[in-house]
Amino acid sequence: MGIRELFERIPGQARLAGELEMHLGSPKNSYFIIGARDAGAIVAAKAFAQALLCEDRGCGRCKSCRAIERGVHPDVSVFERTGAFLSVDDAKEITGLAFRSTSGSRYRIIIVPELELVERAAPVLLKTVEEPPESTIFILLASMELPELGTLMSRSVVLRYDRLSDEQINDELVKQGAAPDDSVDAVRLSAGHWSRAVELAADHELREAFSLWEQLPHLLKQDLSVIIRLADKLIAVGGLMEDRKKREQRDELEELDELLSTQGLAGSAMREKVEERHRRELRKVRTTELRAGLAVLERHYRNQLVDGEIETLEPSVSIRAIRLIEDSQSALARNSNEFLLLVALLSRLADKSS
Ligand SMILES: [Zn+2]
Repeated sequence: MGIRELFERIPGQARLAGELEMHLGSPKNSYFIIGARDAGAIVAAKAFAQALLCEDRGCGRCKSCRAIERGVHPDVSVFERTGAFLSVDDAKEITGLAFRSTSGSRYRIIIVPELELVERAAPVLLKTVEEPPESTIFILLASMELPELGTLMSRSVVLRYDRLSDEQINDELVKQGAAPDDSVDAVRLSAGHWSRAVELAADHELREAFSLWEQLPHLLKQDLSVIIRLADKLIAVGGLMEDRKKREQRDELEELDELLSTQGLAGSAMREKVEERHRRELRKVRTTELRAGLAVLERHYRNQLVDGEIETLEPSVSIRAIRLIEDSQSALARNSNEFLLLVALLSRLADKSS
């Protein structure tokens, strides 16, 4: 085994695996992977961490490799921000992590996902990334290149997470056993995001609820009550995933309590830590769903631009719509009120005259 084998779990990233492999001998302090909104990017970052810390360059089986996989390695952190966005306090916490000494590993590795949600935390983060302790390695992930990330990128080895084509995603889903019809729906609703497609292919309820985003352009009317009802429904789609997450977390806590009691341990500190992680996870769910929905909506208008079908909108209308959706994506990254943001976006999309 090695990093290339570890990467086989994530389709379409062989090139990235090869580039990371070349760095295993003498890694730099910071890696910046662009295009990585897909949850597969975290798997990729973890695979790099496994290869960096493993005696065997990423065997996938040793104690260290398994601990990284399960997210319990003491020297490898996947940073979970406290709110929907990376705050200055989060950046300070990352600095604290970076300066903590390792528990015997060669490197301390910090993976920071979704850096495009960096808000005002970039300067604080930059200071640490510029002058980290020698043994600290950052793996920074971002879905897009924002101007505020420019300096961070210039201090890092910048790599690209390749986007898969719809055909590639579909082939992979079918290979994994998805029914062809489910797979086609999942690919369409994933807007090109591999891990989202996997999630959708396995989940009929989510596919059904989430398809509202796809139907949205046909439901829009220049009528505020219609717009508000649609915005409410879209927020409720995110609520579905929030409820799921809550159930998952309840099960995890029950399991943990059982484990602690059979071992005769008090473990209240451990329980608190898990609860804190749960709170962080929960805050992110709704934003994540909203961003996934906006991506589907954006893809609809992009397809209108290229397809040239009979009902195709005027190109200028599609271009304007795409720009409005992109603006909403970045407004979302600046911590706007989600409901108001949707109402504003939908009203503008419904008004094709301006
Ligand atoms: Zn190993």
